[in-house]
Amino acid sequence: RKGSVIITGASSGLGLATAKALAETGKWHVIMACRDFLKAERAAKSAGMSKENYTIMHLDLASLDSVRQFVDSYKQSGRPLDVLVCNAAVYQPTAKEPSFTAEGFELSVGTNHLGHFLLSRLLLDDLKQSDYPSKRLIIVGSITGNTNTLAGNVPPKANLGDLRGLAGGLNGLNSSTMIDGGELDGAKAYKDSKVCNMLTMQEFHRRFHEETGITFASLYPGCIATSGLFREHIPLFRLLFPPFQKYITKGFVSEDEAGKRLAQVASDPSLTKSGVYWSWNKASASFENQLSQEASDQEKARKIWEVSEKLVGLA
Ligand code: NDP
Repeated sequence: RKGSVIITGASSGLGLATAKALAETGKWHVIMACRDFLKAERAAKSAGMSKENYTIMHLDLASLDSVRQFVDSYKQSGRPLDVLVCNAAVYQPTAKEPSFTAEGFELSVGTNHLGHFLLSRLLLDDLKQSDYPSKRLIIVGSITGNTNTLAGNVPPKANLGDLRGLAGGLNGLNSSTMIDGGELDGAKAYKDSKVCNMLTMQEFHRRFHEETGITFASLYPGCIATSGLFREHIPLFRLLFPPFQKYITKGFVSEDEAGKRLAQVASDPSLTKSGVYWSWNKASASFENQLSQEASDQEKARKIWEVSEKLVGLA
């Protein structure tokens, strides 16, 4: 049978390119889990994906009710689940005021981390039950959350502190909107959310890999400077960022190439190692990369897991 893969945020950028790459092999049925149905349908059509290779399902990660409804509909569809790719994200580098999810969590961490945390937890059993030869849960990370890299050292740096803001619910009322309890900073909130993504992947690995055989992995696909992620940045930044990444840092990667990389992590028989953070060298070969100290801190990973369980109503 064909493999079944869910990709969140498959309506643009990396998620769409990955959906296309997997669909084209003819070996995968791609469930595009998107908040905007029409946009996703148009994107799939213009990417040339053929109808029998994909299904669009509604998922708004900024609402935990929507996450639960998505999971219920998926279970009811009777489809097996072989691979889950947590790819969607929001980035609000110029936000002066915080925005919030339906439950009142600051939007970047609420969407990128908490929405995916609940989704992954609720779908873990389905992955477990799959009889597919290699079942995987992939969470897209980022270099910007890794303070052991040049890009990760561009201020504001990721820093989760003692998690006091997260523990308080990131609501801006009786707690800060930032995980570390600091002042709102949209770029930092995004980086913090990516550190949570990378820590969550490792905590899944420690808790469930041996028992379930599921591969848990994360990756940095390269800088996709042309993707929609930078849509809220100032126009001058959007003009200069792609050539800067192409010619100065040489970290630039096209959406197509990044999609192939994520598709590899999701399906390539040689990338089955669990608990790993993948990156690619200049020759586009994958290698296991090192995470920064904070992004590999086991104690923090455990605490984030426990606090997040409470926030999403699992504990
Ligand atoms: P895009 O902005 O192009 O794609 C983000 C996707 O997430 C869109 O499909 C968007 O939907 C979706 N999304 C946002 N909010 C929600 C929500 N509440 N519910 C459901 N879906 C939502 O950015 P990229 O393709 O660049 O980003 C994809 C991933 O890659 C992210 O995890 C990002 O952190 C990561 N990444 C990106 C890098 C880059 O250089 N661009 C580098 C490293 C990692 P919609 O189309 O409706 O807006």
